[in-house]
Amino acid sequence: MVQDLDQLRRLQKLDDCLRDLRSQGEAIPRRRAALEERVKELKEKLVAAEQQREETEKTRRKLERDLEANSSKVQRYKSQQWQVKTNRELEALRHEVGLLEAANGDLEEQILGLFEELDHCSATVQERKTALVDQERLTAERCRVLAGELINVQNKAAALATERELLATAIRASLRRTYDRIAASRGGIAVVAVNGPACGGCNVYLRPQLLAELRTQARLVTCESCQRILYYEQVEEAHEAMEG
Ligand SMILES: [Zn+2]
Repeated sequence: MVQDLDQLRRLQKLDDCLRDLRSQGEAIPRRRAALEERVKELKEKLVAAEQQREETEKTRRKLERDLEANSSKVQRYKSQQWQVKTNRELEALRHEVGLLEAANGDLEEQILGLFEELDHCSATVQERKTALVDQERLTAERCRVLAGELINVQNKAAALATERELLATAIRASLRRTYDRIAASRGGIAVVAVNGPACGGCNVYLRPQLLAELRTQARLVTCESCQRILYYEQVEEAHEAMEG
């Protein structure tokens, strides 16, 4: 019975390690994807900044064209002043020129504002380019490390799986079936230590009779609530100490 329990505990330990390694292995592609997602986000941000700069530049060019068109109109109207025949026509022309010159004043102010905005846009584009390049470098580095980790995890898991296979074949078939059945229905945990007066798996208090039986180690004792196989940490350690 001591040997049975010992084998089952070792099997449980190996299965725990394998489960850990599996979840580590599964987390690696997710960590990779998160890093790649960050690069994608920064690329999108850079494109947005470049578009903003382009839009601002387009607006600036349009205003420049408006300014030019207005200025040539002003020139034309001014030269027409000498050809008009009536005061009314002259007044109308001067009024038109006044409006155009006022509009041009506004346009010049807007264009100056846009130049400032363009400087700001260019700085943003540059910042985002730098951030993207940095993140790309970091992602490449981390992905290399992650690829190494993955191989490491896979190698460890393969070695443990072999060890587990050897151990499993050494365990009596009926005992192995019991273990497999409990593990399958209890989230992979079939063997647990007693935690004070309670089962370490489900935390339900154990009957004193069961606790006494556990101490004698005459038979495998299972929790009456979760059916997991129980062991007494202290007894095992004392036993091992005596043997040692
Ligand atoms: Zn239990």
